Amino acid sequence: MISDDLEKISCLLVDDDPFMLKALSKMLEAIGVQGIIQTDNAQDALKYLANRNNHIDIVISDLNMPNMDGIQLLRHFGSLGMSFSVILVSGEDPRLLESVRSLGEQQKLNVLGTLNKPVRKDDLEAIVRRHKPVDKQTPSGPAAMVFADELQSAIMNDELEVFFQPQVSIDDGRIVGVEALARWNHPDKGWIPPGIFIGIAEKYNMIGDLTDSIFQKSISEAAHLRSLGFDITVSVNFSAQVLCVLELPEILSETIQSSGLESSHVVIEVTESSLAQDMNITLDILTRMRLKGFGLSIDDFGTGFSSLEQLKRIPFTELKIDRSFVHQAAQNQASRAILDSSIDLAQKLSIECVAEGVETDEDWNLVEELGCDTVQGYYTARPMAPADFITWAKEYGLRRQS
Ligand code: C2E
Ligand code: CA
Ligand code: CA
Repeated sequence: MISDDLEKISCLLVDDDPFMLKALSKMLEAIGVQGIIQTDNAQDALKYLANRNNHIDIVISDLNMPNMDGIQLLRHFGSLGMSFSVILVSGEDPRLLESVRSLGEQQKLNVLGTLNKPVRKDDLEAIVRRHKPVDKQTPSGPAAMVFADELQSAIMNDELEVFFQPQVSIDDGRIVGVEALARWNHPDKGWIPPGIFIGIAEKYNMIGDLTDSIFQKSISEAAHLRSLGFDITVSVNFSAQVLCVLELPEILSETIQSSGLESSHVVIEVTESSLAQDMNITLDILTRMRLKGFGLSIDDFGTGFSSLEQLKRIPFTELKIDRSFVHQAAQNQASRAILDSSIDLAQKLSIECVAEGVETDEDWNLVEELGCDTVQGYYTARPMAPADFITWAKEYGLRRQS
């Protein structure tokens, strides 16, 4: 970033220590940042960010605060689905700070870096300079704050679409399925990725309508692909909030019946974190979905807290390993160990194992060596519109033959 650009940056400082607030604020001024807002608690920070008239580029937050610690705050930032970057400051052990940073990334936050107290001006400046202005952010595109009312009309106006990302068998490279991923085709802002709007849909009770729309589209597109001869399953993501509607298995079955697909062609993906609440109702719903023949996948496996217990209680047919344990696992001892045991666990439970986030041939070779069944990731293909999938699959088939 060129130096003049720092003038245009707006920073929100969150720290319960008034001296630290003052010190950080002085350092930011010294490096040329002009828009500086200070708050001494997390609640005020969230309130400020939630106001659509306020624009913040970077939130610089202390990790240890009374009432809401930095990790809880990160979770709230994640659910706001907003586009600011985050810098974390703490007096704790640098390794702890690093783990929190990676938690932030799992929440799909753009964590620019971490700073140990006492903070040095040069270090602060170096990290602030990593921030990219919104219009230059890639690939998430329009990272502007997105609001519930706009999303509501997008759902009503049918601006949500599904992209399909292929899943291929490790054994022979055959395309065995697609995961349906929501995209918002915004009339002004272009394609908006789900990281920006799913959290808002969940927070403002729109996730039911959203899931309904995405499920219907996924089913009709998948039915079309099967009619063209593609022997594939379609996986659809379900959030916690929709897993409390007791009639859900019946509603899904009805949608399937009129489509020409069978329930065994459909996999319901649920994330572990979404399983934490109202376990009895969720268990009831998921078990009846399974009885009706739907596949059930435990998504982002390894990132939750009670994975093993969930696996015991819910009749999953598939375990989907989170990409943080897959990509570059060959170079990371901890990721590799978790990847290895997750694959082993799937084999012992006789359920399918899918590795997400395979980006390189090194990633592919490792999951193959460890005995995984199916791969999904940029190495094979990025998510694409269903019509593009047809063209891609034909070319992929030709490449496989030669
Ligand atoms: P997810 O279910 O874990 O979906 C996989 C995400 O990983 C997708 O991001 C996909 O584009 C990305 N991905 C796939 N391969 C690679 C790779 O090799 N490297 C990397 N770095 N990323 C890869 P996407 O489409 O942005 O979706 C993000 C999340 O939004 C999804 O994560 C899912 O949790 C949520 N989501 C998407 N569509 C829906 C939906 O219809 N309903 C609900 N409830 N959630 C959805
Ligand atoms: Ca998923
Ligand atoms: Ca996943």
